[in-house]
Amino acid sequence: MPFASFAVPSLPPAPAPPTTCYLLPTTYYLHPPPTGSRPTYYLLPIHTYYLTPPYPMFNLDKIRTIPIEEVANALGIEVRHHKCNCFLHEYKHPSLTFNVSENLWYCFSCGKGGSTINLVMAKENLGFIEACRWLSEQFNIEEDISLTKQIKPMPKPRTTPSLPKAQPTNDYLPALYLSRCQSGRNTFCWSMVQSGILTADQMEEAVARYHLGATHDGGVIFWQVDEQQQVHEGKVMQYRPDGHRSQSHAPYTITSVLKRRGQLPKSHHATRCLFGLHLISKHARHEDGQPIAIVESEKTAVICSLLIPRAIWMATGGMNNLHAELFTPFQGSGYRIILFPDTDPEGKAYALWRKHAAEISSKTGLAIYTSDILERLSTPDQKERKIDLVELLLESKTSNTMDA
Ligand SMILES: [Zn+2]
Repeated sequence: MPFASFAVPSLPPAPAPPTTCYLLPTTYYLHPPPTGSRPTYYLLPIHTYYLTPPYPMFNLDKIRTIPIEEVANALGIEVRHHKCNCFLHEYKHPSLTFNVSENLWYCFSCGKGGSTINLVMAKENLGFIEACRWLSEQFNIEEDISLTKQIKPMPKPRTTPSLPKAQPTNDYLPALYLSRCQSGRNTFCWSMVQSGILTADQMEEAVARYHLGATHDGGVIFWQVDEQQQVHEGKVMQYRPDGHRSQSHAPYTITSVLKRRGQLPKSHHATRCLFGLHLISKHARHEDGQPIAIVESEKTAVICSLLIPRAIWMATGGMNNLHAELFTPFQGSGYRIILFPDTDPEGKAYALWRKHAAEISSKTGLAIYTSDILERLSTPDQKERKIDLVELLLESKTSNTMDA
C-alpha cells in the first residue's frame, strides 16, 4: 500500500495570545498597497505581517456616525446654518450643505458629497484607510479588534484584484500575474498563522511554493498552474480568523473578473488543472518515489505540503471536480497517486472518488489509490462535520502515527 505509514509531525507551538499582536504600533496595520504606490510593508521585517490583521480593523460603524459637522469643525471648515463654502473650488455662495439627520454632506455646485470618511478624504486628500485612521485618532475611536467577529474587508469588498497590465493569451493567463500578486498578506495566510496551524516560516514557504496571491481586500488567490508553468485560472477566497472559509464572501475566479473588465474575451474558456500541478515540472526538485497526494481543498493541500512533506500535494478544488482530464499530465510519469477525499456521514465523497479513481486508472493506466484513512479513523462527530485530512491530523491526539 502506498503511504504504508507516515509520521504525523509535531504541530507548531500554540501562538501567543492574539492580543499581543495588536500591541504593535499602528503603522504595522498597513493595507496592501495599491499598484503603483510604494509597498510600505515590504520595509517591515519579514513575517511581521502574519502577526497583524491583513488590513486595519477600523470601527466603521462608529466612524460613520461621528456628527458630520463636528468632523467639519475638526477639519477647520466653518459651518453656518448647516452650510459652508465648498473647499473643492472657487465659490460665490455657500454651496456645501450638511444633512445632520443622515450625517452626510453634499455640494450643490460640484456634486461631491458623502459620509464623514469621504469628507476627510476630500478635504485632506487622503485615501480611505488614511481617512479612517485620521478620524479614529481625532475622535478616539478604537479599532474593532474582536477576533470572534467575522473579518469585514476594508474597503468594501471589491471583486477586482489588482492585476498587472498584461494581455492574457487565448488559453492561459499571463505568468506575470503570479509574481505580481504573490503575497502572504491575505486572510488565508493570516488565519493559518493566527490559529497556530502553521508558523510564519512555514506560511512563507507555502506562499512561495504555491504562488499564493493576495487581493486588495485580503482575499487569497489560489492559482492553477500546470506542469509547464502555464496559468489556467485563479480562485479568490476569503477566510475567517479561525481558518475557515468566510461564508459571506462567495469565491470567484480571476478569469471572471478579466472578462467583466473586457480584458478577456467572453468566449474564453479557462481549462482547469489541479492546484499544485506545477510542482511536478521538470524544474521542480522532488525526491525519488515521492507520491502525489490529491485532496479536495486548496487549503488542505497547502497545509499538508508542510505537515507531510514526503508527498507532493495537489487539490481538485471540490468533491465534484475529480475528472479524468486532470490526470493527463501524469501519464507515463510513473507517479503513484493517492486520493484523500473528505469524509461525510455516508462516505459519499469516498465512494465517489473511489469509483472515479477506478475509471481513470483503467482509462489512463495510472496507479491511483483512494485512501480510506478518513473513513477509518474519523469519529461519527467528525464525519458529521465532514472533516478533511488536516482536521483529522490536528484533532488526532491519541496516535502520532497513522496508517493509510
Ligand atoms: Zn463643491
